[in-house]
Amino acid sequence: MKTVSFRDGHTIPALGMGSWNVGDATATRAEEIASLHAGLDAGLSVVDTAEMYGSGRSERLVGEAIRGRRDDVFLISKVLPSNASYEKTLRSCEASLDRLGTDHLDLYLLHWRGGVPLEETVEALTHLQNRGMIRRWGVSNFDTEDMQELDELGADCAANQILYNLEARGVEFDLLARDKAAGIVSIAYSPLGQGGTLLDDPVLIDIAKSHETTKGPASPAQIALAWVLRQPNLLAIPKAGSRVHMRENIAALDLVLSKEDQTRLDAHFAPPRSKTPLEMI
Ligand code: NDP
Repeated sequence: MKTVSFRDGHTIPALGMGSWNVGDATATRAEEIASLHAGLDAGLSVVDTAEMYGSGRSERLVGEAIRGRRDDVFLISKVLPSNASYEKTLRSCEASLDRLGTDHLDLYLLHWRGGVPLEETVEALTHLQNRGMIRRWGVSNFDTEDMQELDELGADCAANQILYNLEARGVEFDLLARDKAAGIVSIAYSPLGQGGTLLDDPVLIDIAKSHETTKGPASPAQIALAWVLRQPNLLAIPKAGSRVHMRENIAALDLVLSKEDQTRLDAHFAPPRSKTPLEMI
């Protein structure tokens, strides 16, 4: 399986599992947990959640899904910028650990940049790391200039979670290369597009027709995922609310896009020619 390595040498699979909008409805809960179990069974250890998602409902569902198998999981959660002061960061982390039913996170991210000085949040994250409550920390939705500021603080940031898919390619201009050169893992969120627009795209549908996976004919979602996963040392975290979607996404790991596919995709979803501000949702 394709992997991603952190600067500290820790290695994880390049495909992980998102969990935004899970745990919100009783009717879908069992299937959402079964989907995460299917991913864990296949060796996808990374689960991404956040205190924001469903005001803790996602963390509670993830906590239920990983009970008894914490050692199989690389757990990511996030602190909201409104909770990113020194004291509130410590309290947010404790509350996330409580909802997740664990004593540590493998990666803790500042969800996006807010009004609290970076230095103060970094101090809190470093304190959590020293206490063993988080193994490493990172950021999310940070553009090149924000990363530069972190650098100037001498901060030991492990990852930057960003919007990256065929429709949002701006980060290819400089951010992806910058983070890679610094040994910072890029984590691509919403790899299937915002609102699933990529799934109906005629070019993706057509390219999918020319590929087979071990589980049968390829789908547009698999093409979109394979395209994101072509980037070196990048983790993609699609959210699959069902076992069918989870298994389909796992099979995308085996899919290799041809040069011709990539040229068609570049013609349809143009790569950036200049710096554009980082997009986020
Ligand atoms: P995704 O790109 O993962 O798309 C999720 C949607 O695609 C869901 O509707 C899902 O449906 C559907 N889907 C998944 N697999 C398939 C498939 N094989 N075929 C067809 N449809 C499929 O979007 P998200 O916005 O959820 O992003 C992924 C994760 O990234 C989030 O869950 C969250 O963990 C993280 N995130 C982080 C952000 C940040 O600011 N740091 C912002 C946004 C997301 P279904 O549920 O029915 O499977």
